Amino acid sequence: MTLEVANTWYDTKAFGDDVTLIWETHIDRGVRCNMWHVCGRDRDLLVDSGFGVVPLRNNVALLAGKEILCVGSHSHFDHIGAHDEFEHRLMHKAEAHIMERPTRENTLADNYVDWPIFTASPYEGFDPARYNVRAAPPTRLIDEGDVIDLGDRVFRVLHFPGHSPGGVGLFEDATGLFFSGDQIYDGHLFSDTYEGAGDEYIESMEKLKELPVSTCHGGHFASFGRDRMIELADEYIAGQRKPGCPADH
Ligand SMILES: [Zn+2]
Repeated sequence: MTLEVANTWYDTKAFGDDVTLIWETHIDRGVRCNMWHVCGRDRDLLVDSGFGVVPLRNNVALLAGKEILCVGSHSHFDHIGAHDEFEHRLMHKAEAHIMERPTRENTLADNYVDWPIFTASPYEGFDPARYNVRAAPPTRLIDEGDVIDLGDRVFRVLHFPGHSPGGVGLFEDATGLFFSGDQIYDGHLFSDTYEGAGDEYIESMEKLKELPVSTCHGGHFASFGRDRMIELADEYIAGQRKPGCPADH
């Protein structure tokens, strides 16, 4: 199977608070990730970098020029594909080894990357069976309580194991903005990607319910407010605790 080569790969949408969503237009909505860009005075923040099948910085104007701290919410392929384009790469220590030696297995690319998730080819000769994330070792390891400083804006790192061992969210106390990665979003949540994940995921859900969130910008699908976040967390927890119900899906 082959598809037409796409003319453009990325699109953007500005939100309030100098936040911009970047996404890959020719990847299925359920698989492509939300990349979140935040403007700071001294440097910018980028949460996640997509599949990495088309150069990101050369094709998204707001990523040109400024110093950018590129955070990986976790190391699944759909979130870290273009990390190698950035000088500053921040990742939780529990997943640093995957960034150093990504494979189709340890990034989960093997489970998802095939023609049906694409509506156009990223370039001539693209072969999804040969897709792999390029190595991009972290330049800074982050963990619970660390601070990411943009000069005039500060984000707190929160560790949320469950979807993956080193999943992180970023919370801005001044605005209540919350970048949640794949810990929570308004869609089907996956917690079966590593051993012991189910219990950790529930603990992480309980923890995020305490956050005074204004807007939650997740790793996939549409953004939402605190009430919806708590509803999603409660639905997830209730689903996990049903006797005899297999974990998630
Ligand atoms: Zn993921």
